[in-house]
Amino acid sequence: MKPSSTWLGSQVTAVLRSSRRNICLLTLTAVLLWTPARGMSDEPDTNSNPVKRQTENVLLVTIDGLRWQEVFGGADESYMDKEFGGVKDIDALKQRFLRDTQHRRCNALMPFFWSTIAKQGRVYGNPEHDSIARVENPHMFSYPGYNEILTGIADPSIDSNDKNPNPHVTVLEWLHQLPGFNNRIRAFCSWDVFPYIINSERSGIPVNAGWQPLAYDGGPTVLKALDHTADQLPHYWENVRYDYFTFRGALACIEYEKPRVLYVAFGETDDWAHAGRYDLYLDAARRTDQYIARLWKTMQKMPEYAGKTSLVLTTDHGRGDTREDWKSHSDEIPGSQAIWIAVMGPETPPGHSESETVTQSQIAASIASLLGHDYHAAVPRSGPPLPQLIRHDR
Ligand SMILES: [Zn+2]
Repeated sequence: MKPSSTWLGSQVTAVLRSSRRNICLLTLTAVLLWTPARGMSDEPDTNSNPVKRQTENVLLVTIDGLRWQEVFGGADESYMDKEFGGVKDIDALKQRFLRDTQHRRCNALMPFFWSTIAKQGRVYGNPEHDSIARVENPHMFSYPGYNEILTGIADPSIDSNDKNPNPHVTVLEWLHQLPGFNNRIRAFCSWDVFPYIINSERSGIPVNAGWQPLAYDGGPTVLKALDHTADQLPHYWENVRYDYFTFRGALACIEYEKPRVLYVAFGETDDWAHAGRYDLYLDAARRTDQYIARLWKTMQKMPEYAGKTSLVLTTDHGRGDTREDWKSHSDEIPGSQAIWIAVMGPETPPGHSESETVTQSQIAASIASLLGHDYHAAVPRSGPPLPQLIRHDR
């Protein structure tokens, strides 16, 4: 089923409605200024011959500010207190996530990651394997991180989380202009800055973000019920909706729109950490793992996706590495550069990356490479695809 133009129209209108007038004018100016420059450096290399791959679709998922310490080590008991972890019910939290071995702690926190992604896919950034994954941009907060993930360029001038339309072309926008991808790319994001990071107005990629309604004309009625529920709940964060709504929007999108590239950006982990709530941070990580499982399993039951979809999973930045610092992240908090990346799909040999360093800037070209396209050649400033991303034995 082809995505409806009505739906696209309503999403773009919603973005326009939610934008302030001066941002619209700024965007227009940015587009006018950037059009000639794109011709020199970022123009899609539409003449390049795509390589034949089994992967026809990519599910890109980010979990905002989820530390490698929890991904690879599970819950940390030394944070399970009132003073440093803000934990309300310490015994209940221990029961949920504390186990006698690291292996069991990991499985308690992120069961899908450890039972499926880490077994069938490739994992980068696990220090136990002397693997380092890090951000290359100097800022170590969200917009610069998502810009690096999506463009492959660690641009130091991207230095604010404000709603500035991204001057750079993301790999999503680059793919969007290639045959077979037009109107087949979607994004569902908990944080309301994503329409600007992906530059929805210029790229034409529909981005459903923040507390924006999920329902659209001709869409499933369940989305209307979800919107009603969202209206009735306290909006604890003005700019970030609860990840459950992002998950349900993405799930409906898979079932009804069947995009070839779907980006799902979860956000609660970062916000609960900033709030100093280790209990709610862990609960959010666990829920997000289950959302990813459900999205992936749904895809594997659909002929459009089964056996021809790759998952790319990562985070936008690390956080501090002490009981005091874990709540935050910046260029002044040691450890904020450390991230983790996982890729699973028919192209990628399973295993842990060993004794190597990779960067966030390599993700954009990896997404394109999984789909048979050479983004790094077209945009040489971007990082090259991740090592051992593609099996060489076929
Ligand atoms: Zn943050």
